[in-house]
Amino acid sequence: MCHLHCNLAPAHVKVGSHCNDLLVFERSLIYAGRHPVVTGQSGETTDKKVAVHSSRRMKTLDHDAVVIGAGPAGLLTAWTIAARRHDVAVLEEHPKVGEPDHCAGLLSLSGLKILGLEPPQQVIQNTVRAARIYAPSGRSLLVERGRHEAVVVDRRKFDAWLAERAVQAHASIITGVKVRALKTHDGSVVGVETLEDGAVVQRKAIVTIDAEGVQGRLSGSVGLPMIHRTSKYPAYQYEVQGADVDDDLVEMYYGRQTAPGFFAWIIPLGDGRARVGLASDFKSKPRLEAVMRHHPIISGKLVKASVLRGIGGTVLVGLPVKKTFMSGLVVVGDAAGMVKATTGGGVVFGGISGKIAGKTAALAVSERDASARSLGRYETSWRSLLLGQMRAMYLAQRAISSFSDRGLDSLVKNADELSLTDTVKREGDMDMQGTTIAGLLANPRTMIALLSAARYISPRF
Ligand SMILES: Cc1cc2nc3c(=O)[nH]c(=O)nc-3n(C[C@H](O)[C@H](O)[C@H](O)COP(=O)(O)OP(=O)(O)OC[C@H]3O[C@@H](n4cnc5c(N)ncnc54)[C@H](O)[C@@H]3O)c2cc1C
Repeated sequence: MCHLHCNLAPAHVKVGSHCNDLLVFERSLIYAGRHPVVTGQSGETTDKKVAVHSSRRMKTLDHDAVVIGAGPAGLLTAWTIAARRHDVAVLEEHPKVGEPDHCAGLLSLSGLKILGLEPPQQVIQNTVRAARIYAPSGRSLLVERGRHEAVVVDRRKFDAWLAERAVQAHASIITGVKVRALKTHDGSVVGVETLEDGAVVQRKAIVTIDAEGVQGRLSGSVGLPMIHRTSKYPAYQYEVQGADVDDDLVEMYYGRQTAPGFFAWIIPLGDGRARVGLASDFKSKPRLEAVMRHHPIISGKLVKASVLRGIGGTVLVGLPVKKTFMSGLVVVGDAAGMVKATTGGGVVFGGISGKIAGKTAALAVSERDASARSLGRYETSWRSLLLGQMRAMYLAQRAISSFSDRGLDSLVKNADELSLTDTVKREGDMDMQGTTIAGLLANPRTMIALLSAARYISPRF
């Protein structure tokens, strides 16, 4: 139910019963949409202009900024805008922030530091120190630097915590509201259209931020490029208990028999619990089930395991979209392709893009200038910080998936024998892998490994 303060009736009347074509002021910290919202600090209020046209069951609200989607990218954008004392509303189509989740929850400590985030203990499920990379032959490489590198978070709790943080900074988070369309005027995006409590609502904004995630389509509807379908790989993941795995070691399994085009993973949660997943260019779920039963190493670790739950999703393995802004609109996170193509991980890069977008949007609101020139600063910033890294990871991912299983075996064997992991130990970074890749390519021993595997290159497409 929608509660507005109205001067024709006692406070907090339902819209439509008294307010015909009135300008009223919403006096709640968070506007309640069709479903309950993330709770804010009690007693604090914001004034927001609301025009109600009940005869047409249409309502207009004004915001400084509207964010579409309450994933990490949208929530970090909203937090950044709200922290600069601007009015920002986040619209989330699902009833609860963070659910349903589609993630393995592996986040590097260095990435969290860049984002300025210190998740509380109840969000963190485990800490990991190393990764073991398996070739199809079963030979493996241990990549470790003698310290804890990453945490495994429960994405449902992580996103809920980010939402709480944004609300504490006075962002409004409205759940159960799907954005149906972007509103445009004279070639600029001027807000969004939603359906709330059966009424069409237009939420006008100086800046709109598209943080819809991997299935995003709204920015495409106003002429911005969308992520190509060939960059989207289906993924599936089971959470299991009773697995025989190292509690602080992530495992990655490559090979065309296992996961053509990508890899399978085991991410430990502690006490024999783990996330076992696989992404591939097609049929990820049946492939994962086959791998869990028959893969010579994975199946052995799961002999006594039982499945707790399964989730599906889509990982991105391509480059970011070519344009991420126009007058009135910026695109962040998965919707803009802000991921590491080598792993599909997008929380850190999506979060970085969100923070840059938030700063740009806040400036645009202060200057009352959301022109393409003003919002173009967002793209300039993320490109200078991330694009080189993303290109290097994309090329590495393409190269890895072009090797046959014998080529991957040869690469891992040579990398092991030539101690290439020393370079990773020295220069490795879970997120800024472009720097690590450049370090590896500068090492003549990498060339030896690549040349001897080159005869096994056999592109699949
Ligand atoms: C199986 C799997 C495992 C993964 N593991 C990792 C990992 O370990 N580490 C990592 O960093 N990344 C991982 N990722 C990727 C990561 O989940 C994404 O990169 C990340 O969630 C992107 O954040 P986002 O905010 O851009 O989008 P999302 O988290 O997808 O959030 C978008 C939000 O927008 C909402 N929305 C969409 N359309 C609308 C609309 N029209 N109106 C209102 N709301 C809307 C959605 O409901 C959603 O809540 C994994 C992905 C998969 C599929």
